[in-house]
Amino acid sequence: MNPFVLHLECSACAKIHSPRQLINLCPCENPLLVRYDLSAVKASLPHKVQGNRPHTMWRYRELLPPGNSQTTISLGEGGTPLVDAGRLAASLGLSRLWIKDEGANPTGSFKARGLSAAVTMAKPLGAERLAVPSAGNAGGALAAYAAQAGLQAHVFMPRDVPPANRIECETLGAQVHLVDGLITDCGRLVAQGVKVNGWFDVATLKEPYRIEGKKTLGLELAEQLQWRLPDVIIYPTGGGTGLVGMWKAFDEMRQLGWIDSRRPKMVSVQAAGCAPVVRAFEQGKPRCEPWSAAATRAAGLRVPRAIGDFLILEILRQSGGAAVAVTDEEMLAEARAMGRLEGLFVCPEGGATLAALKKLIRSGYVRPSDEVVLFNTGSGLKYLHLFEA
Ligand SMILES: *Cc1c(COP(=O)(O)O)cnc(C)c1O
Repeated sequence: MNPFVLHLECSACAKIHSPRQLINLCPCENPLLVRYDLSAVKASLPHKVQGNRPHTMWRYRELLPPGNSQTTISLGEGGTPLVDAGRLAASLGLSRLWIKDEGANPTGSFKARGLSAAVTMAKPLGAERLAVPSAGNAGGALAAYAAQAGLQAHVFMPRDVPPANRIECETLGAQVHLVDGLITDCGRLVAQGVKVNGWFDVATLKEPYRIEGKKTLGLELAEQLQWRLPDVIIYPTGGGTGLVGMWKAFDEMRQLGWIDSRRPKMVSVQAAGCAPVVRAFEQGKPRCEPWSAAATRAAGLRVPRAIGDFLILEILRQSGGAAVAVTDEEMLAEARAMGRLEGLFVCPEGGATLAALKKLIRSGYVRPSDEVVLFNTGSGLKYLHLFEA
């Protein structure tokens, strides 16, 4: 374990737990967050991160759970390009626009970051069989990192998951369980398997380290912008792990003195056919109601209920952020626009961020002088079936 790790703390009731055990939620059923001794990290890193380290997420190892001598289960995740989207910015009348291209990760999505961290921690803590509910990309990432770790992976996916996701899992040696239902139904089956078969559940935010992996999105973004943050971040939100992770990164970097206290406005974009965060945000509620009959072809956004919903809503409100729903047609049209103008073959979830940006420019929420970052969370290559004309 990283000597700077103090403990795990419940995000809701603040109860403290030992990190030296395989653990899921707090007994109060809320997610656990890793807490670090940040003044000790600060003393050991007077010049922020060392420039000569490789550009993967493990570059920030003082702020990640495994210790220095611990073997990381890694395929080179992180270090993705922050593309200066000049042509797209000009077409929108914006001064600066970037696309953080997470499609460049191993397994073609940013799920690689979280599952690299989770599998790296689960193996030495004694897990042998890992299980995950997945709407698409988490399954492939678990399959990959479990294979590298020599562990068994059980992936529960909706039967109508994009074919690339299922084929990827099977090819990488995972046991695939197709479920007539949504990711929440898959989650229930994983929980049963945990009880009956002793699997370890690595569902997002039910396991404390996937969020630490996704936290590196925020660390990397700050470093790529010379330790400043943009005015607006637009993030396609399913379980919200990336949003919660980035916000945690901003807090930790502030305490380390790496950035000032200015924060971007955090914007969640969801699919019109599954928008529990948008609805709860608009109604001023602290938690989301489960979305019934969730339907969208953007698999990563087909999440009718997120366990960290209260954390997402808190961040949107604290940051003066927004929540926007867009249709599948808008996502796919804007994904094509990102491809034509910037040469990036983005996933529909990535296209959703541009669709949201256009709405926010029209409403006056985003001003021409704002610096905006869009998160393309995965590669369009995993969704060929949607792009075929
Ligand atoms: C999982 C996923 C999302 C949603 O990410 P969260 O951090 O769970 O909100 C968005 N896009 C893609 C491509 C995904 O795989």
